[in-house]
Amino acid sequence: MDMPVPKKNAPLRQKDPPPRWRKEVQSVLLSRERIASRVRSLARQIEKDFAGRDLVIVALLNGTVVFLADLLRRLSMPLRLDFIGVSSYRGGTESSDLVFTKELRLNVTGRDVLLVDDILDTGNTLFRVSAKLRRLRPRQIKICVLLDKPSRRQEQIAADYVGFIIPDHFVVGYGLDYAEQYRNLPFVGILRPEMFAPRHGSQT
Ligand code: 5GP
Ligand code: MG
Repeated sequence: MDMPVPKKNAPLRQKDPPPRWRKEVQSVLLSRERIASRVRSLARQIEKDFAGRDLVIVALLNGTVVFLADLLRRLSMPLRLDFIGVSSYRGGTESSDLVFTKELRLNVTGRDVLLVDDILDTGNTLFRVSAKLRRLRPRQIKICVLLDKPSRRQEQIAADYVGFIIPDHFVVGYGLDYAEQYRNLPFVGILRPEMFAPRHGSQT
């Protein structure tokens, strides 16, 4: 029998978005079906790796909400959930200075932390958040992201669980925003270039 091909490395074929979004979204990079199937296998892997552990999932607001909700419902194991709020005050598409808008409330000392974010881009956000968490002395910190853009990395950081490796496009949907919009798209898509307008202040 053939070995299953790892889905995160399968070629990404861009498709037309549903008519409702066609004016704003140029193409669908990841369909909802493709995401759902990948989330299922990520959850299976996480269940296996953290079996019997004292797991705390720490998700970054706001970009993880959709991914997190789907992932959580696939995890049939005891776990605790908490959030960290990070705002990067980007001018639209570039992360810059980080501001913490919500601090962790649960005790993670001695516990296993799974840090969940929507996308690993330059790595600045997760690099700084994981350094901050490490000071709380968890047993270990593992990182899970839906998307990874390795070509943009500036910090020495890698995720332990990656949904999809994607090329250097600014993507929206399935929780990811542009200027706080498009989080509700059920797929991950590429915005039309004309949708980018100069503005400031955005939550990651
Ligand atoms: P990093 O700090 O790794 O550069 O970026 C992390 C944050 O930047 C992500 O959590 C996300 O909020 C934002 N970001 C990076 N790339 C993209 C992208 O392609 N689309 C969207 N919507 N946000 C992105
Ligand atoms: Mg984010």
